[in-house]
Amino acid sequence: MSNMNVDQLQTNPSDHGLDEWRELKADQQPNWSEHPDFQSVISDLNSLPPLVFAGEVDRMRSRLAEVAEGRAFLLQGGDCAETFADATADKISGRIKTLLQMAVVLTYGASMPVVKMGRMAGQFSKPRSSNMEKRDGVELPSFRGEMVNGFEFTEASRAHDPNRMVKGYHTSASTLNLARSFTTGGFADLRSVNQWNRGFTQNPAHSRYESLANDIDRALKFMEACGADFDALKTTELYVGHEGLLLDYERALTRIDSRTNLPYDTSGHFIWIGERTRGLEDAHVNFLSKVRNPIGVKLGPTTTVDEALTLIDKLDPQREPGRLTFITRMGAEKIRDNLPALVEGVQSSGAKVVWVTDPMHGNTISVPSGFKTRRFNDVIDEVRGFFEVHESLGSFPGGLHVEMTGDDVAECLGGSDPINEEAFADHYESLCDPRLNHRQSLEIAFMVAEYLQRR
Ligand code: PEP
Ligand code: MN
Repeated sequence: MSNMNVDQLQTNPSDHGLDEWRELKADQQPNWSEHPDFQSVISDLNSLPPLVFAGEVDRMRSRLAEVAEGRAFLLQGGDCAETFADATADKISGRIKTLLQMAVVLTYGASMPVVKMGRMAGQFSKPRSSNMEKRDGVELPSFRGEMVNGFEFTEASRAHDPNRMVKGYHTSASTLNLARSFTTGGFADLRSVNQWNRGFTQNPAHSRYESLANDIDRALKFMEACGADFDALKTTELYVGHEGLLLDYERALTRIDSRTNLPYDTSGHFIWIGERTRGLEDAHVNFLSKVRNPIGVKLGPTTTVDEALTLIDKLDPQREPGRLTFITRMGAEKIRDNLPALVEGVQSSGAKVVWVTDPMHGNTISVPSGFKTRRFNDVIDEVRGFFEVHESLGSFPGGLHVEMTGDDVAECLGGSDPINEEAFADHYESLCDPRLNHRQSLEIAFMVAEYLQRR
């Protein structure tokens, strides 16, 4: 497509306001608009097939409506930042496996369906607190995720390159392809997922979860004895979501659905707006208000009730359950003080949002060796605080959003089979925020399941 066609796209009156954001403040964007390849990349992305389909997006919104009504629970997990190199069959299946294992435990604990969503197949761009990074007196642009620049600390690698969006698209496509075949091809059979969990509880460090695992086993045997249709349980729905940070990319993958004549951002099922880019009059809120996808917004500890209510007015003017998810990330020390006012404010507005806890981003610390980490106990404490607040206000604690991996990494401190700082030197792999490893992820699922059972 030539430049002229891109201009036409921007001024087309039937564009559903999809380009209004171009006139607004857009934080955290790459500086690539003058790059010689920028226009051709945008036109390539405009003509590539959608990664997800409008019908799937609608189905996910209806699943999230069940969460908003308190009849289902949402589990969202994956890397802080995906990388191109780690989009391998082993790593992707490890992550999906862990997510499915967590979901089985949560389904049993909550006695409810669990909506499963990977932070994957598109999580390639990152907001940063500083534009520049300094190492040994050398200053270069910060790493912003592999869809923007490279992690390697050289001038060439840190330059913002729009061609990386095309690579991001294709890597998302192959990740999604594998995710679809894993979850529909028999890999997700409930009975095998349960068997994998037995491996976890056989570790003496996790013996306190053995009885819950036994209960799940018995429930499965009971279902089998009753003649439950296990063929139907061989497949599962898995949705994907990412932070919709790069507006050039999100806009280029937005398509008008021929059935409904409405715009869908086909880069993923669920798109969220980060804590740093949720300005009420800014570009991200404006753009994502125009698409039909279910939308998340991260809410940090300084969020005011007025901001939350204005976000509802802008992103969910029809008050449609499932449309809007608030992902709170207050920090363990603040959640009990800061969340209640938001929940009460939203309750009095009559809106039905999905409330999710992200117990990771408010609990990040740096250790003297320079690594960014999180203490498992702080993560658990924020989850507890989230449940306590919702319980006391009669609202539904709808879900859990975690940065996790299926690998045996050492990035977060603690857990029953504890990770300590010495392990970071050899087993810290994240290019961005620290993730729960496989065992820590399962442990948090077992703890939340125990909690849900007691409700
Ligand atoms: C993230 O989810 O990786 C992130 C940057 O979160 P937040 O916007 O909540 O800081
Ligand atoms: Mn993160």
